[in-house]
Amino acid sequence: MTDYARLRDQMVDRQIAGRGIRDARVLAAMRTVPRECFVREGMEEFAYKDAALPIEQDQTISQPYIVALMLEAAEVQPGARVLEVGAGSGYAAALLSRLADRVFAIERHDALGLLAKERMAALGYANVEIRVGDGTRGLPPEAPFDAILVAAGAPAVPEALRTQLKVGGHLIVPVGGPGRQRLCKITRKSADRYVERDLGAVMFVPLIGEQGWRED
Ligand code: SAM
Repeated sequence: MTDYARLRDQMVDRQIAGRGIRDARVLAAMRTVPRECFVREGMEEFAYKDAALPIEQDQTISQPYIVALMLEAAEVQPGARVLEVGAGSGYAAALLSRLADRVFAIERHDALGLLAKERMAALGYANVEIRVGDGTRGLPPEAPFDAILVAAGAPAVPEALRTQLKVGGHLIVPVGGPGRQRLCKITRKSADRYVERDLGAVMFVPLIGEQGWRED
């Protein structure tokens, strides 16, 4: 076993399962996807730390536990079609690719989108499509989705994302001001009925776009 595989197992045991994540498919995916391939060059030794890490374009790769919490809450089943908004390094999209049939992930920075694409190709995660653009609008040509995960903090739940959920689908989105948000789970119950659950406090970079924060 390589050092990274041992560190990855320790991460899952201590930071993820140890904090109450129980979904066996999420735990298995996290034991498989090499987080060291998604951090900035030179930061590989910190890949399994219990923390978010800086990546290119002044963005972050989220803390592993928060990624696991979002994945479990999204209840992604085999065969699912999933959208991630805020692909960043591509790590969460790579995990989603182990859980779902098809994954679409949108990133607003070209440079990050390109890196994430290269990583998916290198690792052979062929069911992930990385797009560059404003993810607050969702991805209407590919909708509806069984699950939508938003990896940046929104001022309010983007209406476009809500309406691109299938009935029975889940939208996981941090909502609140810069620096501190509440992680919300929104489940579509029917064409026009949604229920919302609060999953706790989180800290994400801002979601910037038409249905997010303004750039300045
Ligand atoms: N999921 C990522 C990972 O696994 O590395 C972490 C993402 S990082 C916390 C949030 C990302 O959201 C940043 O890369 C940022 O550029 C991106 N972002 C912010 N607003 C966006 C938008 N409207 N559309 C797409 N991406 C956006």
